[in-house]
Amino acid sequence: MKNLWPMPLLCLVLLLFAGSAAAQAELFKPKISAADAAIAKQLRQQALAGEHSGYKLVSSLTTEVGARPGGSPADAKAVQWAVAKFRMMGFDKVWIEPVSFPYWRRGAESARLISPGNQHIAVTSLGGAPGTPAEGITAQLVHFPTFADLEKADPARVRGKIAFISNRMQRTRDGSGYGQAVIARSQGPNIAAQKGAVALVIRSIGTDNDRLPHTGAIRQPEDGMLVPAAAVSNPDADQLVRLIERGMHPQLELKLDVGFDGEATSHNVFAEVTGKQSSDFLLMGAHLDSWDMGTGAVDDGAGVGIVMAAAELILKQPQRPNRGIRVGLFAHEEQGLYGGREYLANQQALMPSGLLQHLLVVESDLGAGSIYKIDGRTSQLGWAMIHSIHRHLAPLGIELGENDKPGGSDIFPLIQAGAANIALRQDATEYFDLHHTDNDTLDKIDPEALNQNVAAYAVLGWLAANHTISFGTGELEPLPSN
Ligand SMILES: [Zn+2]
Repeated sequence: MKNLWPMPLLCLVLLLFAGSAAAQAELFKPKISAADAAIAKQLRQQALAGEHSGYKLVSSLTTEVGARPGGSPADAKAVQWAVAKFRMMGFDKVWIEPVSFPYWRRGAESARLISPGNQHIAVTSLGGAPGTPAEGITAQLVHFPTFADLEKADPARVRGKIAFISNRMQRTRDGSGYGQAVIARSQGPNIAAQKGAVALVIRSIGTDNDRLPHTGAIRQPEDGMLVPAAAVSNPDADQLVRLIERGMHPQLELKLDVGFDGEATSHNVFAEVTGKQSSDFLLMGAHLDSWDMGTGAVDDGAGVGIVMAAAELILKQPQRPNRGIRVGLFAHEEQGLYGGREYLANQQALMPSGLLQHLLVVESDLGAGSIYKIDGRTSQLGWAMIHSIHRHLAPLGIELGENDKPGGSDIFPLIQAGAANIALRQDATEYFDLHHTDNDTLDKIDPEALNQNVAAYAVLGWLAANHTISFGTGELEPLPSN
């Protein structure tokens, strides 16, 4: 990264703060000018008053394009939509970059409890899983309260049966219940195959009590061993557990017409507010694709609207910030961060300048709930600057969180490679009621909460981009990949 400090001042800073990094952060409090403070206040007020296109963008994307699973015709339409909107908004630069991946399609899918009784079960296949034969798979369930129970099961118990994992995701404000529960979905289909199961059924990774199953991607294993795999709604999972506890040996018929179907190419879409002094930029990300259920309003239409609108407010300032704002709408996040990984590879190919030009990376991908905390992973000096920026986020009800707590989905490969990161934490208490279901629709978005998000991204974007400080890209150790 280019050094933007005047030389005498830099020497003074180095002389004064040659102690530990922590002491540097304590002593060196980066100042925000009165002019920047006034712009931050104005951006906050404009955003809270809805003087931006955030909600209109989400409405437009979810109505005119709708569900946009990666590689589908609607996904290609979403790319055109984003390019047209960015151009209409007057961004300095708009471009697309191709991203290719195996295309997974979903046809008809159904499940029935055929013994005892005969009852429809609300089910959806997990993304990336194989389908069943056309006549379906019928077998008895074998129950595992958790993924760990399946992992340690004797294969003799599992062979020829449908493995059923019933662990329930916990509701939390920070969404951490998802991370704990999701292993049943991501790795269950592989472990079930290794144990000789004919299929896997999981309780949906979601916090609602509706008869709406939650889809989501599985991890593609190195050994390639997978069984057809589906999620049942929470009330259906409860019913199956009760039947098993009564010793009634439920049998299920699963018909899942899904599977991979060749290669597809989509695009990451970018737009930039060009910095007036430097080619460095702050990257604000979201993902453009969605699942095929619902219309992808909270996941991640909201994030798309938030980052586009925040950058739009900065674009409308009478002058450009010193460093740029890049908006990145990433392709095919849902089935494996394809757009985010391709972007990192492209940036690394531009070394030494590519990754190092990323002043800071941030992403909105947890719905449209209000932001309550700012965390991140920056240098000590960068975090001292976040202390200063936080004073201008506090009026939005945002508390100062912790350094070394990174966040983001598509930007995670960049963070792992050592990009400085800020995570604006959203209230996710209700997000996982809707996540990856037919219920992810526009009416679930509260325009006032969306405005608060736009305010936070605009204030952070302006104050970080218009300063001269480094947040630590190029200094941070890469994170181990998991
Ligand atoms: Zn998402």
